[in-house]
Amino acid sequence: NTAIGVLALQGNVSEHIGAFESAIKGLDLDIPVIPIRKADEIPSLLALAIPGGESTTIMRLIDKNRMRDVIREFQGGIFATCAGMVCAARNLIDETRFSPLDLLDITVSRNAFGRQRESFEADLKITGFEKPFHAVFIRAPVITSAGSDVTVLAEIPQGIVAARQQKKLILSFHPEISHDLRMHEYFLKKVLSLS
Ligand code: GLN
Repeated sequence: NTAIGVLALQGNVSEHIGAFESAIKGLDLDIPVIPIRKADEIPSLLALAIPGGESTTIMRLIDKNRMRDVIREFQGGIFATCAGMVCAARNLIDETRFSPLDLLDITVSRNAFGRQRESFEADLKITGFEKPFHAVFIRAPVITSAGSDVTVLAEIPQGIVAARQQKKLILSFHPEISHDLRMHEYFLKKVLSLS
């Protein structure tokens, strides 16, 4: 288990790699961060990040590259953001064209904010964080219900926007573009127990 992988099929891949590299450096760790395009690269990873982007496209490419079973069986950490949250869900309430990966016990709404409010930013209070996190939401999904194994880390009136189940961290927003590394650091330190 030597590397953090960022699923590199579509979406904010380079931003996530950059944020992880900075967070790893800041914590004085020595872990490579690599883009992942093939199923056989996944089992040996320490963790896999599924970035924001377009979940329909990401899921189509996951299936095209025969990665679904490998990701479902993966025992390492998962860091899924925005479209990644949609991909990681057990159920989607407003999407029938594809079935998500069922990585954790959450039901997700893809279009929770409607079209008139596609993007917005908010200072979120997150459990375990001393200061609010400036969160950027872009056509963001929310968790509408979560099983008892899921710990809610942040919630807004529309639903749950940050949650954790064991080694899996799921966010509605985009921590890779807000120049605040605390979410990536939290994943490395608290979720993966590194450093
Ligand atoms: N709404 C998009 C989707 O479901 C996600 C948007 C994003 O990742 N910024 O694919």
